[in-house]
Amino acid sequence: MIAGQPALEIVAAIVAEMEVSGLYVAGKGAAPNTDGVVELDASIMDGKNQRAGAVAAMPNIVHPIHAALHVLEDGRHVMLAGDGARKFALANGAMSVDDPSAYYTEHAGHGSSGDVASHGTVGAVALDINGNLAAATSTGGTFNKRPGRVGDTPLIGAGTWADGYVAVSCTGVGEAFIRSSAAHDVAARVIYGNVPLGRATRAVLDAVRACDGNGGLIAVDRSGHISMPFNSHGMKRAAVSNTMRAVVRVFEAEDIED
Ligand code: ASP
Repeated sequence: MIAGQPALEIVAAIVAEMEVSGLYVAGKGAAPNTDGVVELDASIMDGKNQRAGAVAAMPNIVHPIHAALHVLEDGRHVMLAGDGARKFALANGAMSVDDPSAYYTEHAGHGSSGDVASHGTVGAVALDINGNLAAATSTGGTFNKRPGRVGDTPLIGAGTWADGYVAVSCTGVGEAFIRSSAAHDVAARVIYGNVPLGRATRAVLDAVRACDGNGGLIAVDRSGHISMPFNSHGMKRAAVSNTMRAVVRVFEAEDIED
């Protein structure tokens, strides 16, 4: 992380690093669908102006989050899917995965339903020194998904949200996060209900559970409060700020709140 960078650049850079690590079910570690094909979902949102970009069910691009950022910067559309997304990404200089069987690592946790390893989506949220918020999320989706299945990750308002109040990135059973409009619901509770971020995020996870899903989310608000709750077995998460040294957690139940 480089001090002074805009929140949008920070979240894109962090997610891009995780995409090529092969350690998560995103980018290099993505889970194939039932046809054995990797289809990638990603989205990014700039809270300063609520501009957003997303790609869905996009095959064989090294950095789906960069493709989503190009969609945002282009500004004509918010989401591109499938081969159209791939063509747009390549036209904007994206790196192609030309030999999928050699590139994708098929993360060791694939198929282990219900535990931390089966929720491998990566995400980042940031508040920058100018008070701007941003969020980014990237995934290979759920293991054994049907071809063409799109989860919450590329859906603005479900898996990703940023505005002038909060930035949110979600992971978990995508169908439940879609049905509960999870990421935007955090913002709605903060803005309309005037509730603290930590209470809003936990209420949203309760709503996700009521829609038959588990998972977690990371969120930061415009005052720098951080909340990273989950109702799955565990969630790999980390946070740092200018008033708090870096913390890294996986299974510990307690929230990270600044
Ligand atoms: N939310 C992702 C999806 O449903 C999966 C995950 O977070 O692991 O595609």
